[in-house]
Amino acid sequence: MVSYATGFSTRAIHAGLTADKATGAILTPIYQSTTFVQEAVGRDKGFTYSRSGNPTVSALERNLGALEGTRPAICFATGMAALTTLCLALLKAGDRVVVSDVVYGGTVRLLRQVLAPFGVRADFVDTSSEECLAAALIQETRLVVIESPANPTLKLTDVARAAALAHAASALLAVDGTLLTPALQQPIALGADLVVHSTTKFLEGHNATVGGAILTCDPEIEERLRFLRNATGCIQSPHEAWLTLRGIKTLALRMERHSANALAVARFLESHPRVTHLAYPGLDSFPQAELARRQQRAGGGLIAFEVAGGTAAGVRVLNRVRLCALAENLGAVETLITHPATMTHASIPEAERRALGIGDGLIRLSVGLEDPSDVIADLEQALGVERGEP
Ligand code: PLP
Repeated sequence: MVSYATGFSTRAIHAGLTADKATGAILTPIYQSTTFVQEAVGRDKGFTYSRSGNPTVSALERNLGALEGTRPAICFATGMAALTTLCLALLKAGDRVVVSDVVYGGTVRLLRQVLAPFGVRADFVDTSSEECLAAALIQETRLVVIESPANPTLKLTDVARAAALAHAASALLAVDGTLLTPALQQPIALGADLVVHSTTKFLEGHNATVGGAILTCDPEIEERLRFLRNATGCIQSPHEAWLTLRGIKTLALRMERHSANALAVARFLESHPRVTHLAYPGLDSFPQAELARRQQRAGGGLIAFEVAGGTAAGVRVLNRVRLCALAENLGAVETLITHPATMTHASIPEAERRALGIGDGLIRLSVGLEDPSDVIADLEQALGVERGEP
């Protein structure tokens, strides 16, 4: 097996994987089997029943662990299943969790509408401000959950500072690393205790699966997460794991190209007269550009922007694109354009959503791997409508 000391791309392709012993197949087989025959009572080959563990899923878990520099991942049915199990593992009634104010809408819904009735208190604070986070941590806190960059505004949180503040308050830090993947940011190396991924996005990368993962260096937390996954049954299927393993083989290349394409599109949008607001962490004009350079290897594939004319104008752009697909999801080879207010962040109350910068005119663009000139031409024609062109 490939050593953890090799380069990132080599690990992405080989780590945790060996050719199939029975046939020599270079790719890990899809072990589509519910159960595993036991040699004798109490003697098995490491697998008994696919809810407790599956060889294809285990291969993905070893591979992801090698990429984050942690113990093997614990993979889940979706990113939300991973976040739910993270909370079940670390929180109980009466515990408090501090969460970045801008996060994926599903995370807000989980904490407010599912876990609050069980007595878990979530406080959403601006973790991009060290003062706000420090002030929030004066009250007893068990867990801090941050998203950096945050979906959809791309606001950053200083991961190393957040880890130091959380640890000083005897709290754990979990980072939702979905938007950058370990190819562009490694939160554990920056001091975090846990990383959560929706593997649905860049990790699998081809709009073909939904899946999630949690990574940690703490064997006790890992064991608790595995216990809960078996107990609640929110497992990842071997087929999804296989597709994700295949996607990861090109992760380093894809993240590099997603970032380069997004930078080209962001430069076009930045100079467009109809664009009134633009956020892309790879641009020098990004307010936290210095932090982005410090903790990210590149800007990533996401851009957030607004156009003159407010909501109606933004919606017209969303409805006029031809190459970019109007769709939920991000991080795939296809460029996807999303309206967070009615799609990904619709579950956040309107006034609160607007106050966080997720206005009705905000457009989120997940730049894919098409020729960037074609994405730019598509946006140009869609924005042209805003100049009164037919
Ligand atoms: N975390 C982030 C940052 C996301 O953007 C999403 C989904 O959009 C999730 C978690 C949830 O992942 P999933 O859709 O795989 O449940």
